[in-house]
Amino acid sequence: MHVPFEPPRSLSPSKVSSFRNCPLAFRFSVIEHLPDPPTVATVKGTFVHRVLELLFWNHPAGQRTLEAAHAERQVAWAELQEDPDFLFLELAESERAHFERAGEKLVENYFRLEDPNLVNAVGMEVMMEARIGDVRLRGIIDRLDRRDDGELVVIDYKTGKAPAPKYEQARLAGVHLYALLCEEMLGQRPVEVRLLHLLEPTVISATPSDQTIRSYRQKTTAIWDAIERACATGDFQPRTSGLCNYCRYQAFCPAFGGDPTQAAVVLGEPA
Ligand code: SF4
Repeated sequence: MHVPFEPPRSLSPSKVSSFRNCPLAFRFSVIEHLPDPPTVATVKGTFVHRVLELLFWNHPAGQRTLEAAHAERQVAWAELQEDPDFLFLELAESERAHFERAGEKLVENYFRLEDPNLVNAVGMEVMMEARIGDVRLRGIIDRLDRRDDGELVVIDYKTGKAPAPKYEQARLAGVHLYALLCEEMLGQRPVEVRLLHLLEPTVISATPSDQTIRSYRQKTTAIWDAIERACATGDFQPRTSGLCNYCRYQAFCPAFGGDPTQAAVVLGEPA
């Protein structure tokens, strides 16, 4: 085991939630950079995000129709045929058809959540970065909208299952961090952060406030302190939860009888 570990150069909302969910899985993924193979779910998410990005880039308000989205879906589908992550999946013909149909359904569902012709998107895939205490916080906002009254709204597309009501606040943590980044970088706090869950489809939203901004600032600093401590001591504890069922490192997890020192040996060179 390489103690002390080198802390990451920056944190993103997904890294923050990865450490909160399970410090040991965070170590494997973020600190040791062990291979993280793409899955059907992650590649499908990329595909649908790309369709919606093209819809907003290539079509002005008034022309963002379902037909336009279907045309952009075909463009994105053609792009995907060259994508290394998609090729890695090695889908059979029937699985490819199922994948494409599932993506089409998610795009159709998007139109059930909002009318894109009424949206003033001022940015798509917006890279944000700011220093919060000792840490560089970075993230990419799926879409940043400006309302008629000048206020900002952060939009995050989700292609996985929406959380049960009791987990909604936890699921909003990422977009609250985007609100913090907007306030730091743009000097303007968004009035709303919104998750568009395309599968159900459903919307989960929240209003950033002095209290939430302060709280997420403190949480980010506290998580960074905990990561630095864990890197210095090598003590990344496993935290079991329902997520263990999907954890690619379960075979190396002491909570399941595994040996963490074997992860790098078996999984090979860092990605
Ligand atoms: S199996 Fe669970 S506890 Fe173990 S590393 Fe993975 S997420 Fe963490």
